[in-house]
Amino acid sequence: MRRRICTALLALGLLALAGCQKAPEPVEFTTFAMDTVMNFTLYGEKKQAVDTVKPLLAGGVSALEKILSATEEGSDIARLNRRGTGGVGAETAEVLAKALELCEATGGALDITAYPAVKAWGFTQEEHRVPSPAELEALAEKIDYAAVKLEGGAVSLPEGVEMDLGAVAKGWAGDLLAEAVRANGISSALLDLGQSTITAVGAKPDGSPWRVGVVDPARPGACFAVVELEDMAMGTSGGYQRYFEQDGEIYWHILDPDTAAPARSGLASVTVASPSAFLCDGLSTALFVMGLEDGAQFWRDHPELDFEVVFVTEDGEIYRTAGLEGRFSLAEGYEDREVVVLE
Ligand code: ADP
Ligand code: MG
Repeated sequence: MRRRICTALLALGLLALAGCQKAPEPVEFTTFAMDTVMNFTLYGEKKQAVDTVKPLLAGGVSALEKILSATEEGSDIARLNRRGTGGVGAETAEVLAKALELCEATGGALDITAYPAVKAWGFTQEEHRVPSPAELEALAEKIDYAAVKLEGGAVSLPEGVEMDLGAVAKGWAGDLLAEAVRANGISSALLDLGQSTITAVGAKPDGSPWRVGVVDPARPGACFAVVELEDMAMGTSGGYQRYFEQDGEIYWHILDPDTAAPARSGLASVTVASPSAFLCDGLSTALFVMGLEDGAQFWRDHPELDFEVVFVTEDGEIYRTAGLEGRFSLAEGYEDREVVVLE
């Protein structure tokens, strides 16, 4: 009898142990915003925290889109583009200030006033066309982030200058959502904002880092590398993400502010990892414009920005910065590719 009780107790104990070790179930959901599908994965010890956060995430991105999107009629940005002057809310002013700061830090490789050129190429309405050289020259002349006057909540733009936060908005959203997730006591989550902006909150529930794939620009259905992230974001800008073809020529959506034409720097994609999703988004666009050499130099010159980079050239060469040591690995099928480490 005693023996039987012992066995029963042992079995109960084992059951309890198994219960303790069972990995928590993730809550996964999807929302459509900022022209893309976003996937969120949350691990909540407390169901209530997850229930609270879910509507905040979906609502958060669409609220941001309503104030920041250049193509959303009633947004702060669209209104400014129409009228040239006016007041904006505190959040728009904050994003604008940070974006302008990054435009300056990148020497204008990132330029939020590229919008008239983005429109002229037809990327906003997906009615693509190739502007004439004379038109491009006139457009390039008007691209100048320094012409944007921002004082408190008052903004003014010179005639013909229009803004677009498309290069940084998803990153901004990523930081905001990660903050909401953490504030609600969720310590493990992966927020995939689509088109290659992703934010990792904490590590996976088992304590290992999140493993996020980097898309092969030559085969966008595949990933050539994996980057391990823990409380870090990652963003990729690549010519393969949005482009059109005309007369055998490819034209993509990342423009060189100096020429108002697609940036042909020899790069096919740039991936940036940093604690700030905003920086990942903005810098991936900027470094794509700069090209490998200037981009690598920018990384050396700005340790205070705290970011790492993976560059892929149009010839398929892979370069990564030294700070990714131990966090970067080639994916299955790509093991023989050479990776040049930038110091
Ligand atoms: P995605 O929006 O596909 O994630 P990016 O973050 O690289 O890609 O942003 C590209 C978008 O930013 C373009 O669609 C365009 O609206 C705008 N843009 C293009 N070139 C520049 C540039 N040099 N500086 C700032 N914004 C740009
Ligand atoms: Mg970007």
